[in-house]
Amino acid sequence: MISTPSRPTFWNIPTVDQILIYVLGIAAVCFCAWGIVQGVKRIRSGTAKPVLGSHPERLRRLWSEGFLQKRILKTTAGKAHFALFWGFIFLFFGTAIATLDWDVTRLFFGVRFLKGGFYLFYKLVLDVAGIAALVALAYAAWSRWVRKGVSLEASPRFAVIIGSLFLIILSGFFLEALRLAAQRPEWASWSPVGNFLAGLCFGALPESTLESAHRILWWLHGLGALGFIAAVPAGFFSHIYKAPWNIYAQKLAPLGAAPKIENIEEQEAFGISDLKQLTWKHRLDFASCTECARCSSVCPAVRMGTPLDPKKLVLKLQKATKEGASEGPVSKIISEDEIWSCSTCGACMNACPSRINIPDLMMELRTHYALEEGKFPPGVAKTLQNVASVGNPWGLDPGSRLDWAKDIDLPVAEAGKPIDVLYWVGCAASYDRRAQKIARAMVRILKSAGVSFAVMAEERCHADFARRLGEEYLFQTAAAENIANLSQYTFKKIVCACPHCFNTLANEYPQFEGGRFDVQSHVDFINDLIREGKLPALAGNAVPTSYQDPCYLSRYNGLSEAPRKVLSALGTELKEPERSGADAGCCGAGGGQFWFDGSKTQRVNVIRFGELKATGASRIATACPFCLSMMDAAKAKEKDETTQVRDIAELVAEALTEEKPAA
Ligand code: SF4
Ligand code: SF4
Repeated sequence: MISTPSRPTFWNIPTVDQILIYVLGIAAVCFCAWGIVQGVKRIRSGTAKPVLGSHPERLRRLWSEGFLQKRILKTTAGKAHFALFWGFIFLFFGTAIATLDWDVTRLFFGVRFLKGGFYLFYKLVLDVAGIAALVALAYAAWSRWVRKGVSLEASPRFAVIIGSLFLIILSGFFLEALRLAAQRPEWASWSPVGNFLAGLCFGALPESTLESAHRILWWLHGLGALGFIAAVPAGFFSHIYKAPWNIYAQKLAPLGAAPKIENIEEQEAFGISDLKQLTWKHRLDFASCTECARCSSVCPAVRMGTPLDPKKLVLKLQKATKEGASEGPVSKIISEDEIWSCSTCGACMNACPSRINIPDLMMELRTHYALEEGKFPPGVAKTLQNVASVGNPWGLDPGSRLDWAKDIDLPVAEAGKPIDVLYWVGCAASYDRRAQKIARAMVRILKSAGVSFAVMAEERCHADFARRLGEEYLFQTAAAENIANLSQYTFKKIVCACPHCFNTLANEYPQFEGGRFDVQSHVDFINDLIREGKLPALAGNAVPTSYQDPCYLSRYNGLSEAPRKVLSALGTELKEPERSGADAGCCGAGGGQFWFDGSKTQRVNVIRFGELKATGASRIATACPFCLSMMDAAKAKEKDETTQVRDIAELVAEALTEEKPAA
């Protein structure tokens, strides 16, 4: 019986075995370091791209998203990964502390610190870490082979990956159990798992058998752990260093701001068509995929059964770039159908633990087809021509843009006459009969609140969908025209009742000279009016309502609280669907999909409509004319005659009373 708790390092291990494990350990670490250097070189071989933005903010995100894993923690799979990640961190540091105790402080200073109470606590923590990691691995196996999660690979490769980690930890527990069964120290209960296994499996075995079994298992465990270290740079495990790197290097500019082609008139190549055009950041994006399939599980294109699966797309590019190919046509790897199936909803990037930016990549791939080959999905070319020729996608008379307000007194901006708010109506609310009700509701709200406002007669389509379809030239032409027109007028802010208008004017126009304006979404603006008591009292309406978060408000611009506050001010009974806020389901209209002929988007809007209805709501509220249109279409398809579909502005305008609020 041993009397003082201390770490029995190399108990039962002959000196020659100890020397051998050190040699193998050094070789494994060197191999790992060499592999990481090669991996970094492969990534850095991409074309240059500066990492813009503040480093303190990058470090904050690395801590929050990489170490605390806040982005994925809300799901069970995320919690399991958190347990696995931190389990391994503790086991890694446990080994590092043991090495420090034995090979540094004992060897050089004759001092051992892994003893007494600290040692017992250390043992307990490592047992808990090991159990957490084992449970997480069991969950990972269950997800792949039993639950069969969307796009999760249930292959022999993953059986080896998950199985090898499981065996490394399990063999560590049995190793501990064999030693405890042989030594029987008083403090064995501080290693609860090892102690339990010792009693369960080895209690009756003679000491010599325990020692022999211990020595064999020690080698198996040691070789497994060193094999894991050596395998880190090679394949799946390389995400251990690549994912944090990618999180650190993520886009800090507003996520809704698509990449701009500078000096577009002087360019000869547009977008990405060849692997040699990929930047190091693209390569890092592909390399840092953890194959978790979170992107695929939330992707509307996958739900619709299109050829696009974001995880598969990233892995195909990962394979192409990992195999050392420095050039070659991307069209041989990614089909046009995949590229056009994306609604740029951003759900994949929002769900991705490595922050892989798929929407921007899709736009860059589309830019090649649009500007170099003049290729678009059916129906889109005509819509783009309409925007170019008459400034709206429907090809309607630009002179009739303000016809929706024929019978109301609508102030129109005049140069030299300052106003507080320039109300940006947008094409949908100007020309689409159903969406025109949103514009009229906005005017009623602005007037009721006594806001000095006007609309701009020269307003034209900002062509955000053209940019998302790769037609950057048209987008930049429209941006220049709109910015020049806006600059003639004096106003404090622009208010947009369409998330696409809001995102473009707020996040993309600052990419152009003179394009920096104070821009507010109507949900935010109306919420401010209510909060500041500027609107007359609102008539309460407790209709059970489910809110469809538009992707370009909630996901790209973090605006999911304001609309809910407005709904709550209306007295509505808010019914939240399973996916809401930044995780909300896409209506299927974004990324230009709204304009495709024979669009598959009909199905995703029906899916989303069903999710919102499943909450028991009898009314669907939204804050986007395109979501509104998609929900109306789903309602018609489902032959639903009872559910109301309304924009938040309409609900507020309907609830306005003439009674002024108390000051
Ligand atoms: S942006 Fe949306 S549609 Fe496109 S790949 Fe990502 S999740 Fe799918
Ligand atoms: S792209 Fe991101 S979310 Fe998709 S599988 Fe890879 S790591 Fe997971």
